[in-house]
Amino acid sequence: MKFESYWHDSTPAFTGATAGPVDGDYDVAVIGGGFTGLAAARTLAKNGTRVVVLEAGAVGSGASGRNGGHLNNGLAHSFIAAKAHLGAERAKALYRMLDDSIDTIEALIAEEGIACDFRRAGKLKLASKPQHFDAIARNFEAIHAEVDPDTALLSAKDLEQEVGSPFHGAMLSKKSAMMHMGRYAVGLASAAARHGAVVYENAPVTGRSVNGGKHTLTTPRGSVRAAQVLAATGAYTSGPFAYFRRRIISVGSFLIATRPLTALEVASVMPGNRTCVTSMNIGNYFRLSPDNRLIFGGRARFSATSDQRSDARSGAILRQAMTQIFPQLAGVETSYCWGGLVDMTKDRYPRAGYADGVWYAMGYSGHGAQLSTQLGITMADTLLGKAPANPLDGLDWPAVPGHFGKPWFLPLVGLYYKVLDKIQ
Ligand SMILES: Cc1cc2nc3c(=O)[nH]c(=O)nc-3n(C[C@H](O)[C@H](O)[C@H](O)COP(=O)(O)OP(=O)(O)OC[C@H]3O[C@@H](n4cnc5c(N)ncnc54)[C@H](O)[C@@H]3O)c2cc1C
Repeated sequence: MKFESYWHDSTPAFTGATAGPVDGDYDVAVIGGGFTGLAAARTLAKNGTRVVVLEAGAVGSGASGRNGGHLNNGLAHSFIAAKAHLGAERAKALYRMLDDSIDTIEALIAEEGIACDFRRAGKLKLASKPQHFDAIARNFEAIHAEVDPDTALLSAKDLEQEVGSPFHGAMLSKKSAMMHMGRYAVGLASAAARHGAVVYENAPVTGRSVNGGKHTLTTPRGSVRAAQVLAATGAYTSGPFAYFRRRIISVGSFLIATRPLTALEVASVMPGNRTCVTSMNIGNYFRLSPDNRLIFGGRARFSATSDQRSDARSGAILRQAMTQIFPQLAGVETSYCWGGLVDMTKDRYPRAGYADGVWYAMGYSGHGAQLSTQLGITMADTLLGKAPANPLDGLDWPAVPGHFGKPWFLPLVGLYYKVLDKIQ
């Protein structure tokens, strides 16, 4: 078994990074080479802005190259809860932004010729318990009537054509998609570089200062000057960005991938070939890879770290969950096990705006594989003076009390959700 992201392992390396010392004067410095930063850099460069991307590791080495590969429309929360928390108009605008983000990715892939197996697969939110179906049905009614007619409610019987495991019904979101996340990350980085963005890998920003209205960003390889800065650092935020570390809770999320399944195994496990998410609080998500592996993920443990030891422990828990849902996979080996950090906010809504002297977009709370491209472009358009619609504009974002970067409270949160899953 490989302890590495399947996406990373099946993606050719990015060859467009700038070698040598980090140097130069730019209009915009983008910190972070995930989808948010790369999408912003591509838009800025296309519009003639002098833009530099400073990435601590390799492009796509953060959450963007480690996720489950679901481009789901719809919110992480129930739409009913989102309306109560955000107000109806903002909740609808955010819902539509998630829809738009999938259209944007589809158009971008076509425009740049990125071969990343994008497919409008549709997403199933699966009821793990009979009582969960009632909540899914209520949510479906509100969504279907108010924001997304491309949805359907499926009974347990309908699901026999979709998933080879007895769930109690589901909501189908037809606009949802899937793609190869590693190839998209490298394709996006290559497009940004082709349009003129300077991309430095292995260039962690360790210091920043402002002089005469210009930012200086320091890395161990040298420094750059820029008029504006966009922080696109998500769960991996390091260096002089304490403001965001007090507001982002980095939580480990883990995945396993089986060996490629045979046509018969696919027919018995995922005949519908969609993205699937279960309804438990500590739930699971799964889909097939382009080469028919089952990619199966979940929070597994409430851990703030993702390294080989932590990933292996989570992988064992995920394997158990996978064979509980699909006993027919008991004899099928796991080929990959990996993890990554998710940038949670306290209320699990993303944030994008201006604070602490920099622009930012982050806090996708596990639902950013699609939204990160859209918000990256939105922030680029903001920097270009276009005033694009941003449903997150002005959303309050206080620091998490007692949180300075290491989420000591995670085990307590995990316990809380475990109890909820037992009683709900
Ligand atoms: C295991 C897992 C499963 C997931 N599954 C899904 C899914 O199926 N669907 C979905 O919608 N979302 C999913 N997500 C979330 C999704 O992947 C993220 O929301 C999205 O990729 C965020 O992109 P980003 O560019 O904002 O952040 P990232 O891709 O994390 O990029 C941030 C980058 O900033 C860099 N950085 C940080 N600090 C510095 C610094 N000081 N200097 C320079 N660089 C710095 C990091 O190295 C990193 O590469 C998942 C996440 C994980 C971890």
